[in-house]
Amino acid sequence: MPLTLTDNLEGLSLLSSRELHALHAASFRTVGDILLQIPRRYEDRRSTKPIASLVNGETASVPVHVYSAGWRFARTRYYEVSVGGENDPYGARLLLRWFNMPYVAKLLATGMNLSVYGKVREFGGKLTMINPDFEIMEEEDAGYRLQEIAMGGMEAPLREAGPETVLIHTGRIVPIYRGISGMGVRRFRQLVWELLAELPVQLTPPGYDVAPTYPFREALQDLHFPAEPENNRKARLRFALAECFESQFRVAWRRRRSQGRMGRVNVTTDGYLQELLESLPFRLTSAQTRCVEEIRADMASPRQMNRLLQGDVGSGKTLVALCAMLLAVESGGTAALIAPTQILAEQHFNNFNRLLAGMDVRLSLRTSDRAEDVGYVPDNPDEADDTPRLLVGTHALLYRKNRPRNLVLAVVDEQHKFGVAQREQFVSSGENPDVLVMTATPIPRTLTLTLYGDLDVSVIDELPANRGEIITALRNPNHMKRIITFMKSELEAGRQIYIVAPLIEESDTREQAAAVSELEKWRGIFPQETIGLLHGRLSPEEKDVVMSAFRANDTHILVATTVVEVGVDVPNATVMIINDADSFGLSQLHQLRGRIGRGQHKSYCILLSDAKPGEPGREKLEVLCRTLNGFEIAEEDFRLRGPGDVLGTAQSGLGAVRFAEWLTDMRLIHRASRDAAAILEADPQLQQPTHIPLRELVAPEADYGVTA
Ligand code: ADP
Ligand code: MG
Repeated sequence: MPLTLTDNLEGLSLLSSRELHALHAASFRTVGDILLQIPRRYEDRRSTKPIASLVNGETASVPVHVYSAGWRFARTRYYEVSVGGENDPYGARLLLRWFNMPYVAKLLATGMNLSVYGKVREFGGKLTMINPDFEIMEEEDAGYRLQEIAMGGMEAPLREAGPETVLIHTGRIVPIYRGISGMGVRRFRQLVWELLAELPVQLTPPGYDVAPTYPFREALQDLHFPAEPENNRKARLRFALAECFESQFRVAWRRRRSQGRMGRVNVTTDGYLQELLESLPFRLTSAQTRCVEEIRADMASPRQMNRLLQGDVGSGKTLVALCAMLLAVESGGTAALIAPTQILAEQHFNNFNRLLAGMDVRLSLRTSDRAEDVGYVPDNPDEADDTPRLLVGTHALLYRKNRPRNLVLAVVDEQHKFGVAQREQFVSSGENPDVLVMTATPIPRTLTLTLYGDLDVSVIDELPANRGEIITALRNPNHMKRIITFMKSELEAGRQIYIVAPLIEESDTREQAAAVSELEKWRGIFPQETIGLLHGRLSPEEKDVVMSAFRANDTHILVATTVVEVGVDVPNATVMIINDADSFGLSQLHQLRGRIGRGQHKSYCILLSDAKPGEPGREKLEVLCRTLNGFEIAEEDFRLRGPGDVLGTAQSGLGAVRFAEWLTDMRLIHRASRDAAAILEADPQLQQPTHIPLRELVAPEADYGVTA
């Protein structure tokens, strides 16, 4: 039976039980786990030289013959092997020394032919390699090669020397894998080689074959042991395409399905919307108006709306969402806003409550701690759940059994914290409500396509005109004195200040402690001020009290953890001091900074950090000082951290991304997207034999084959 990728490692005779154990401990279970492991990097060891041509400092692969071997002792014991000499066509000699590698003594002996790879150094006039990589060659084969090199000049390529040549560790481009405890890198490399050798030539890839003209078996070989760097690139591209294709296929599937799904036609009279717009002290920006119109058109169409609303912090997404919700209520249904956290749900609720003051609409809050109804309340309590209303709540309280009846619009705030699967729960159940997804953070274009390719997109690409300028400055915490003087002057001018406590992940309690000690510090500096404290361990009521006091300008300074990151809106706050700024993520810093510059006053974001130029953490701070544009920052964040970290792959619907580097490649994503759409166009039921594996991809959400 030929080897397959799904074979378990247990069944393999080429592994000792100790090795099997080490591999299991490193989560390698199957042949595929090993062969689909991407080398961390490659070392080009192709440059092959005879000893006679080596010079001090050079790194090369060298075919040699051992004429003596034994232990030596200088300051420490080492194993020394002398090679070349009479067996070398030029009589040249080389010393090989291994320190702390006693097993080498068991492997090497006089008379052997080796290929060694390492850096040559001259000690006392003798050419030496310290701890070179090596492999033992079959005798005739090696002799053949040594001669050929001698005849062919200095650089005959070793790897083409003879038909029996098998060089794994030297004389070729060599893969370097991440370390596995209990198994040496050489042994792992050899294992990969041996497994590859046992694979059938006609091996098919798991799932759908995205590039049938480039045999999968060959691509695997090129991934691990490329003959040329170009082959490696080609292989990585093939695997990356397969990955992009998977995510794009899911997206295309969802898009196709949602396009076929009928929603309800919502005819609106615009009464509530007009009332709201007339009561606002400002006008919608033209970008906001355009987005509202796009949403209105979707809601009026018989197709279910699936739209993404993107916009920078402070661009007025929430207001657009409220407009959409009013349109929905006017058409006689319920509109729900689903927030990722309780604090945000409450904030939206309070916000809406203010904006809708005096209007005859029912507004309800549902979180695990609070249920509240304001506005119109029906006389007959039985009627309560059927009357049109605006509903704000957390996710857990608004789906499945709690799902509101007569839901015509679901607005999902901060989609990427939920992941695609949860969105589906709203999209595809019950009466097919229209769905509007709001992202709190702008995301890079390639990711928009990857994650939200199934959605129509509205972008608010303009900030309201009344916004004050924001100056961002990077300061060393040693210069606190001048910062304090500056803070005083802003406080005297009547402005308010946020102080963000250092970021402490994983522990709410320690984060609270950090915030409390930050509070103590500032109480010492500004004894005459009342200073508020906001952190994640406060109860909703306590948070409410703190926020109300700050909003009402009763407290002038607010010490806070990242809970102020989203949604908090106090236009009079003009200064934000961020401690240990380099420990925050770039997008997170941008979100934090979005809390200031919300009124007409000039604002200042001061990033405290002792990261020096060139140090990790410094670059993102420089990006932040350079630009206020959230989309630009998202691209930079993506470039600096990669997609997995930006979105958290587990939740993002990206699955296990191995070839993440390629997710930044627009062309690849477009190609995958086109391929996916073409397949679904030609074979919507996935009935062709080559398409059957694709059913797996969409299985969790699929109802293919049942009906159109
Ligand atoms: P986002 O959700 O995009 O961060 P919000 O909707 O919370 O932005 O709006 C931020 C602030 O700007 C709120 O106080 C909101 O009332 C105000 N705002 C929204 N649209 C406008 C506008 N067109 N002109 C002036 N202020 C606006
Ligand atoms: Mg908002």
